[in-house]
Amino acid sequence: MTSIGIGNLYKCEVLFLRGVSPWTPVSAVDLPPMVELAHRLLASNRDRWEQVTTGVNRPGQQTWVYGRAGKPCRRCGRPIRCVDQHEPGKTRHGDPYARSTYWCPNCQPEPA
Ligand SMILES: [Zn+2]
Repeated sequence: MTSIGIGNLYKCEVLFLRGVSPWTPVSAVDLPPMVELAHRLLASNRDRWEQVTTGVNRPGQQTWVYGRAGKPCRRCGRPIRCVDQHEPGKTRHGDPYARSTYWCPNCQPEPA
């Protein structure tokens, strides 16, 4: 699982914007541009409550993939996928560290 030490929403959004599959090993990811993009997104949201990564601060249009499971990808129209990650043997609600990963399988192809 790729983890670059930022919030889950930003993680999903940065991976999408860079076209990187969430299942890419960290060692295979070109990190500096990812971190720079994450900083840019964080900075752009500094002064508002909403977290907007698309540049469109309207309900339902604020993110590329995050929170959009089953909805069409804004780039290619394929359904956005989502998996919940939580500790084995616990339900999502029983695990305080549960998080969901959202991605477009077409725009973010899995590593070979
Ligand atoms: Zn797509």
